[in-house]
Amino acid sequence: MTIDELKQFAVEIGEKPFRGKQLFIWLSRGARSFDEMTDLPKSLREKLAGCARIGGCRAIKVQEDPEDGTRKFLFEAETGGAADNADKRADTFEGVFMKYSYGNSLCVSSQVGCRMGCRFCASALGGLVRNLEAGEMLGQVLEAERVTGEKINHIVIMGMGEPFDNYDNVAKFLRLLHDEDGRNMSWRGMTVSTCGIVPKIEQFADDFPQVNLAISLHRLTDEGRSAIMPVNRKYPLDELLEAARAYTEKTHRRITFEYALIEGENDTDADVDLMKKKLGGMLCHVNLIPLNKVDETGFEGSSRNRAREIAETLDAAGIPATVRRQLGSSIDGACGQLRRTI
Ligand code: SAH
Repeated sequence: MTIDELKQFAVEIGEKPFRGKQLFIWLSRGARSFDEMTDLPKSLREKLAGCARIGGCRAIKVQEDPEDGTRKFLFEAETGGAADNADKRADTFEGVFMKYSYGNSLCVSSQVGCRMGCRFCASALGGLVRNLEAGEMLGQVLEAERVTGEKINHIVIMGMGEPFDNYDNVAKFLRLLHDEDGRNMSWRGMTVSTCGIVPKIEQFADDFPQVNLAISLHRLTDEGRSAIMPVNRKYPLDELLEAARAYTEKTHRRITFEYALIEGENDTDADVDLMKKKLGGMLCHVNLIPLNKVDETGFEGSSRNRAREIAETLDAAGIPATVRRQLGSSIDGACGQLRRTI
């Protein structure tokens, strides 16, 4: 709940609105029980325990990559869907904690499963189960902080799911993170990644002009892109790139294009020429990543050498490009490897 929703809730149970603010502060710090809320009178804590429940999610499995300290969490929801779902195993999702020079970041899931059907991605296997609620996304941050004992100051919504297929909950989550009475996270510490749902890109530019936007591009012909990303049939490349351009014009912010390199599919010299042609002159940055292994898909990633070569070529053509650090692959926690498992 937002601070306003909590104030209203306080009034509904016969309390003063400021109790809602107190609750918001406690919940944003990760309180797990009303008993911890020591500045609330005991009678109110008892009343709350009788009529309310603190949701979010719990880590049921944590794996650590010994090389880089990346940790992958398997979360189980404590709210909503879990209660009505007969098969609790269907209601799990993953998140990844990563350490960077600029601080700690959590890769957050926005849905259980995904219905976008990208052919190379593990999250798409098995389709969509349900949307995550804002509190379940915030819960991932709080639970990851509780388990690691570290502060998280950046989030990327690049875990399971398509955030723009669950726009309202994602928007609420971003606002909860930003609230100065809560976590006070800066807009610029947040990144949302989409496979290319054009109308939502337009809305996002209006609603969140300071949050970073990443677009999963991966191919620059309609035929090739539609073959690996079904979303392209609904929102073809020209429309997508036009929306990206409009986004940068409106927000004056650099957009990130993610490009997973698949050997022989999208990493040839002709592909690189297309990137130069289509992305040249845009306020953008290309993030190259050799495709990570997902056994069921049959695709192979390009070598890191090829990735570096392409980055240099793009850079030389005036398109800033970097090769993404590969974190967490030994625990299947790298891009595209998150799935519903138990
Ligand atoms: N649905 C959103 C958020 C997921 S972000 C989106 O598509 O942008 C996860 C990123 O990893 C996306 O860029 C996705 O295309 C990419 N990805 C998927 N499978 C991958 C794989 N096997 N190797 C590398 N990247 C992959």
